[in-house]
Amino acid sequence: MKVAVIGGGAAGFFSSLSIKAHFPDSEVSIFEKSSKVLAKVKISGGGRCNVTHACFDNNLLSRHYPRGGRFLQKLFYQFDAKSTVDWFKHRDILLKTYPDGCMFPQSNNSQTIIDAFVHEAIQKNVHILTNSPVREIEKINERFRLKVNDELLEFDRVVITTGGQPKKGGLSWLEDLGLDIVDPVPSLFTFNMPNESVTSLMGNVVNDVTVRIEGEKLLGKGPLLITHWGMSGPAILELSAWGARMLHEKNYQFHILVNWLNEMKEIELTEVFEVIKIKHSNKKIANINPFPITNKIWCYLIEKSGIQPDAKWSEFSGKLKNKLINNLLNDRYTVSGKTTFKEEFVTAGGVALHEINPQTMESKKIKGLFFAGEILDIDGVTGGFNFQAAWTTAFVAGKHINGH
Ligand SMILES: Cc1cc2nc3c(=O)[nH]c(=O)nc-3n(C[C@H](O)[C@H](O)[C@H](O)COP(=O)(O)OP(=O)(O)OC[C@H]3O[C@@H](n4cnc5c(N)ncnc54)[C@H](O)[C@@H]3O)c2cc1C
Repeated sequence: MKVAVIGGGAAGFFSSLSIKAHFPDSEVSIFEKSSKVLAKVKISGGGRCNVTHACFDNNLLSRHYPRGGRFLQKLFYQFDAKSTVDWFKHRDILLKTYPDGCMFPQSNNSQTIIDAFVHEAIQKNVHILTNSPVREIEKINERFRLKVNDELLEFDRVVITTGGQPKKGGLSWLEDLGLDIVDPVPSLFTFNMPNESVTSLMGNVVNDVTVRIEGEKLLGKGPLLITHWGMSGPAILELSAWGARMLHEKNYQFHILVNWLNEMKEIELTEVFEVIKIKHSNKKIANINPFPITNKIWCYLIEKSGIQPDAKWSEFSGKLKNKLINNLLNDRYTVSGKTTFKEEFVTAGGVALHEINPQTMESKKIKGLFFAGEILDIDGVTGGFNFQAAWTTAFVAGKHINGH
């Protein structure tokens, strides 16, 4: 069985190794268009490679994918986060779990992962061909003919692992095969707020906030970081992922409502204020910050509410109180544009999942053609979930490459 794997990234290498593990006699060639393989793995997770997430309940794991979660859930029984940990352990690569659940190699260096893949691929006789873009693919009877540079080559099976494509044009060669493509849009980005003075608080972090898109049901939860261009941090990235398509349609012009106190409600907040008013009536409002937000943010919100810097708690009532409550629980900001998150960004959209057999990763229309990785309409939130999707889909494609 001659197999071509198109794309020398995470999914390309993992599917090749899976093919060799399940069918040692097969002949596997990886075609990579650039001069280097695994380039994204190298820069992933800030150079440390967030390999997976310590989430070992597959139902829960699947909920971290704004697109493709249900599809993945059907695959996880074949290869899940625990399988990833074991796969690397078997190769003496231990993963370290951080408090937020992200798992990195103990070396804290993505090169460890690259070395393991390349070493095993060479050892198992996988041909790695760089500077080899596949420009065309054609099915002739039971075989595939690929145009690589100017050469025509034939294979029995093909795995496409060419990664996320920012523009639909990049996927036209797959549309030409009759496959349905979901328009690609970016996911995992931070929000630009060019006209908001909150950016003067850059570097301030609040650990538990909730952020909503005004007029929508979407919610992001977790830490929020104020940057010099706007807002970032897990709460914002989560919103950008779940809202990727909708925010694209809004041309990245929208309003957000920040609850700086997580999910605290007005009634609870009023009670907190009543207690402070009694206890600290003679003290300045600015000097008593009863909340888990930084003093800078507290003073900023006081000023934003029109409260004088030397106002005392005894004077705290009426309109000013209502304004501060509103700014703590429903603080409104104008977002205008987005900025790529350098640690991890992905493409939503790609090959539509209804085209793919969820047990084997084979195309339903074109027998012998398989897909894995970000080329599919699957993407996760930040935290190792995108690589996990690549490992899972690639492993399954490799395991079923002979069509069973
Ligand atoms: C900066 C950054 C950091 C990230 N960090 C993390 C992280 O820490 N954890 C995580 O889970 N996810 C992370 N991600 C996401 C993750 O890297 C991707 O989801 C993952 O790499 C997808 O793997 P893939 O093999 O499908 O695609 P890719 O890794 O993009 O590989 C596709 C390969 O195919 C090649 N190719 C494309 N077209 C052709 C063609 N026609 N012929 C031949 N070759 C072709 C490309 O050159 C590329 O090498 C990060 C992404 C970025 C951009």
